[in-house]
Amino acid sequence: AKRQGKNNYQQYNDNIQTITNNNLKMETLLHRALERDEFLLVYQPQIDIKTNTICGVEALVRWNSKEQGMVSPGEFITIAEETGLIVPIGEWVLKTACLQNKKWQDMGLPPMVISVNISIRQFYHSNFVEKLTTILQESKLEPRYLQLEITESIAMDAEAAVNILRTITHLGVQIAIDDFGKGYSSLNYLKQFPINHLKIDQSFVKDIYSDKGIISTIITLGHNLNLKVIAEGVEKCEQWDLLATSGCDILQGYYISKPLNREDLPAFITTYYYK
Ligand code: C2E
Ligand code: CA
Ligand code: CA
Ligand code: CA
Repeated sequence: AKRQGKNNYQQYNDNIQTITNNNLKMETLLHRALERDEFLLVYQPQIDIKTNTICGVEALVRWNSKEQGMVSPGEFITIAEETGLIVPIGEWVLKTACLQNKKWQDMGLPPMVISVNISIRQFYHSNFVEKLTTILQESKLEPRYLQLEITESIAMDAEAAVNILRTITHLGVQIAIDDFGKGYSSLNYLKQFPINHLKIDQSFVKDIYSDKGIISTIITLGHNLNLKVIAEGVEKCEQWDLLATSGCDILQGYYISKPLNREDLPAFITTYYYK
């Protein structure tokens, strides 16, 4: 038994070593990816249920790695957050998304709100608001066409969060709470935070029938607080129907469209309106 124990310990140590080495390697690779300009954004359309129009897109980052091919954010965002690299990566994302949205408007597409995911570390970085202000000025995008998606976890320091959120909303930028209902949430911050949208966590949409009660409760809660409610992860017609009946405002998911490359989005929008 003792021998076994020692072996286990040894193995545990080796694993830690491997994880550390991998993280270091990943950090180097992510650094290089920024320098080589290997990140790109894809855009997933969002539909306004009542008017059946495209009201927005969510920008989602991808890493087109020379060595590894296309890497999804699930494989690098955590390490980027741990190493702090999420700050420059996130800044690149924000800037690229604003410039792209302005470009689409200048092309004559119907104006849409672009949603950008903001990590907690990026949100609390000392010059975040300053960077955001500069990006809005330089891209010339009207602030109301930008929405920041934050998660409930920023409520860890509710007072600081409220201050930052107030500054952001004063700029005219919109705020959505992403993955709503998934975290350890408190209703207390909802009344304090100046926000515009609640985004129901995908897991509830996935189990639409068993979680029908939760979904309609979130929608009612959102509406009572004057917020619009977005559902994501909509893959089936039945989910669309139930969400529509429950009064949900905006839908996003594979049933409508997968995230699209920037070149493919204009055609999707045009055909959506004329089909
Ligand atoms: P999220 O913000 O909750 O984004 C939604 C995820 O669900 C995206 O995965 C999207 O491609 C996927 N999705 C969309 N429709 C469906 C559907 O109908 N069914 C299913 N099963 N999935 C759907 P993705 O692009 O792999 O992103 C994963 C997560 O990575 C995001 O979750 C977000 O937390 C993070 N992320 C993505 N881009 C960024 C970014 O630019 N900055 C930061 N900080 N995080 C990002
Ligand atoms: Ca999101
Ligand atoms: Ca989400
Ligand atoms: Ca998320």
